[in-house]
Amino acid sequence: MEFLPLFHNLRGARVLVVGGGEIALRKSRLLADSGAVLRVVAPEIGAEVRALIERSGGEQILRGYTESDLNGCVLIIAATDDEPLNAQVSADARQRGVPVNVVDAPALCSVIFPAIVDRSPLVIAVSSGGDAPVLARLIRAKLETWIPPTYGHLAGLAARFRHQVKGLFPNVQQRRAFWEDVFQGPIADRQLAGQGAEAERLLQAKIDGDAPATTGEVYLVGAGPGDPDLLTFRALRLMQQADVVLYDRLVAPAILDLCRRDADRVYVGKQRADHALPQDQINQQLVDLAKQGKRVVRLKGGDPFIFGRGGEEIEELAAHGIPFQVVPGITAASGCAAYAGIPLTHRDHAQSVRFVTGHLKNGTTDLPWKDLVSPSQTLVLYMGLIGLPVICEQLIKHGRSADTPAALIQQGTTVNQRVFTGTLANLPQLVAEHEVHAPTLVIVGEVVTLREKLAWFEGAQASV
Ligand code: SAH
Repeated sequence: MEFLPLFHNLRGARVLVVGGGEIALRKSRLLADSGAVLRVVAPEIGAEVRALIERSGGEQILRGYTESDLNGCVLIIAATDDEPLNAQVSADARQRGVPVNVVDAPALCSVIFPAIVDRSPLVIAVSSGGDAPVLARLIRAKLETWIPPTYGHLAGLAARFRHQVKGLFPNVQQRRAFWEDVFQGPIADRQLAGQGAEAERLLQAKIDGDAPATTGEVYLVGAGPGDPDLLTFRALRLMQQADVVLYDRLVAPAILDLCRRDADRVYVGKQRADHALPQDQINQQLVDLAKQGKRVVRLKGGDPFIFGRGGEEIEELAAHGIPFQVVPGITAASGCAAYAGIPLTHRDHAQSVRFVTGHLKNGTTDLPWKDLVSPSQTLVLYMGLIGLPVICEQLIKHGRSADTPAALIQQGTTVNQRVFTGTLANLPQLVAEHEVHAPTLVIVGEVVTLREKLAWFEGAQASV
């Protein structure tokens, strides 16, 4: 091991930074955050560095470096672009036996800065010993996505209960098992989901020996419109924890593949006419699985609260007192619009956007047509294929111009994306001509013309 990782308590300690520019700024920021008192030496010092010096209760010295600047400092940073000067600072510090870091010159360093994932009080440091800082940063980026931002709160929770738990289990092994259980179970889930009070209550109950028998939970997760890359970090984390996954037809296989390998996968359907499971049975199944103590992911296309009946499912859970979380997803309107190069609003074309379901009950026309015909409002129709002829006809009849640009986006955001543009007048014809199938999103409004300039994503097939 070239460098031994140690965590340095710098609170109230004086640190010398030689240099007052960009590089010095980056290091000064870290140092100030860790409570060090900054002494910065440079002929010129930037405003942001000066602000940090002040915040740290330190001092600025506006001149060139001299050896005596090291006096009283516990750590030295050389952050200039003057190589001989950096080498001089390094030599002086080593001579005195004070740790020194020279930015971007590992050979001159006795200590190096790792890439940091800060979940204080939990801090993760990654280093390549200066050989490949980019590699260390990439690992850091992976960890950043993987470890929830509030993970450090778990440490706070543990700190508040440490004494009680110690009293309960004098034996180290038992204590370790207890905390492992806490950090990997529903108590941690509550804390990470922003329900700290509930986490404390559950932890206290666990200590008191009257933890509730059921520890199941349901995660209502938006899987986005299709491209797996559009999942949220939280969606992915919960999918990887699940015991059971209940999914819809809209959830792409590539997304399903990201669920924990040994999770049970249950298809609960939802093709227009072919509901694999009626909604009340889905609701009941969620309740039953959670009562068995399972962690259930209810995976839905797009966003669970936009034409997803997510509300109905969690109402049932709430009625049974089953804990749940809702994870938003990118809804088809956002995903398809972005991947088709059609901004949903635009200062010149549309001041508002409206999401409408085209799934008309019994073929009737029960949409508020009068509210849908303003030329400055973009319309996004979900489930609009079957009713499209009626919808276009009614919009025109109620005053929206027959020339209004419109687009069909089939399987948006996926490699199979197809986009067809036309007008309100000929849209139904385009559907027939190109054999457009569900899932397809319809966008109506002037913004559709922007696609000519803004299209960037290439689906599988040529579009018009
Ligand atoms: N909750 C989902 C919508 C479910 S309703 C969401 O927020 O996106 C189902 C309708 O969404 C489909 O009929 C279709 O109109 C639209 N849709 C969903 N995913 C789509 C996709 N990848 N491409 C085009 N339309 C999509």
